[in-house]
Amino acid sequence: MSHLFYQTSQRRPLLDQARGVYMWDVDGKRYLDGSSGAMVCNIGHSNPNVLDAMRRQMEKSTFGYRLHFETEASEQLAARTAALCPEGMNKVFFVSGGSEAVESAIKLARQHALAIGQAGRWRVISRSPSYHGCTLGALAVTGYTPLTDPFAPMMREMPKIPAPRAYLDGLDPTDPATGAHYAAMLETEILAQGPGSVLAFIVEPIGGASTGALVPPVGYMQAVQEICRRYGVLLILDEVMTGAGRTGRFLGLEHWNLSPDIVVLSKGFAAGYVPLGAIAARDDLVGAVLEGGGFLHGFTYAGNPLACAAGGAVIDEIARLDLVQNAAVMGAALRHRLDALMTRHPIIGDVRGQGLLLAFELMADPVTKAPLPSALNAHQRLVDIAYEMGLIVYSRRTRDGVEGDHIMVCPPLIVTEAHLDEIADTLDAALTRLADELAL
Ligand code: PLP
Repeated sequence: MSHLFYQTSQRRPLLDQARGVYMWDVDGKRYLDGSSGAMVCNIGHSNPNVLDAMRRQMEKSTFGYRLHFETEASEQLAARTAALCPEGMNKVFFVSGGSEAVESAIKLARQHALAIGQAGRWRVISRSPSYHGCTLGALAVTGYTPLTDPFAPMMREMPKIPAPRAYLDGLDPTDPATGAHYAAMLETEILAQGPGSVLAFIVEPIGGASTGALVPPVGYMQAVQEICRRYGVLLILDEVMTGAGRTGRFLGLEHWNLSPDIVVLSKGFAAGYVPLGAIAARDDLVGAVLEGGGFLHGFTYAGNPLACAAGGAVIDEIARLDLVQNAAVMGAALRHRLDALMTRHPIIGDVRGQGLLLAFELMADPVTKAPLPSALNAHQRLVDIAYEMGLIVYSRRTRDGVEGDHIMVCPPLIVTEAHLDEIADTLDAALTRLADELAL
């Protein structure tokens, strides 16, 4: 009997070891980590240089409380993070994960509003579907009713606008009118809520698990940034999943040269070596909060030297191995293979994503985009079949909160063409088995 408990009673094999893109359970079975865990292990498992950096830091110190000490590791990682963010975002605050980082971004935004005499601003607009974390504040801005509804009485109700799923609405994502159409929904919502009450808009630049790697239509991100500016609404980019090279740029915002007010980082930032998250914010925004009495926030483990040393070493490895570029090149090659699977398996209705943040969606009808009946639980069945075959992929059922099956295929950024062939061949076999089981 295990004393652990998680979301369900489903047990998984015991993990023995992990190296590069592969993981082995205690029975010696090998798995290709085709989702980098939950889109976390961007540089692969057990990178020796990161382990060395962690060992060196552990021999110096593993904890220094933030009210007593700064550490070289946290100072250096903050400086390097700032250098990777757009100009003028030189202030970095460390936490231990994505949800904590989202909470921190929202609280910083609120304290900024107070500091500049705009106490009426508190509403944070987000999108549906979206995922920003599982703590109550992060859940309040998450657009995914199966996860949020049970806790609704405990959260402040936050406005949501539809995510720009042009493929479901029959719109052309390459037509600038489509981007303008969805961005206008943000302006409409700001006006409906009363611009003086809106604090921020939080958005994943490219959707994560919530939308299955949804790439926004042309012009959308620039337009939402412009609308935020026009109404004095802070733009918070949740780069928890898109950051650290995953989309073929170090940050997703680079695809559109955006200048947000706050960037939220975690997952690939320390690539699973230690729990680490961060927010980076504009200097003037943080300056106003600090002058206004200080940031009323902070976690015991924030800025942990071991975590920061690992984070610094991960950034080194991303640069040394040219992983941002590899994500772009291997992402295009994997996309090609997923598109080929779509032509062979009519159950795949859409392939989407950017770099190595890729997904495909299972549908009953690829033409009408009708979803499969939820009772089939097709996404989970495919994940289970692939797992049995030694491939780990990640799935969610999120269309309109409850419908639509998509599978994230997001291997570590160190993948080679040979790994991509293995992923595609296993998915091919798994999709064939799924179609047989569903008698399609
Ligand atoms: N934001 C995004 C975009 C995410 O994908 C996630 C996790 O999947 C989070 C926030 C929450 O991160 P964590 O699970 O580390 O709390």
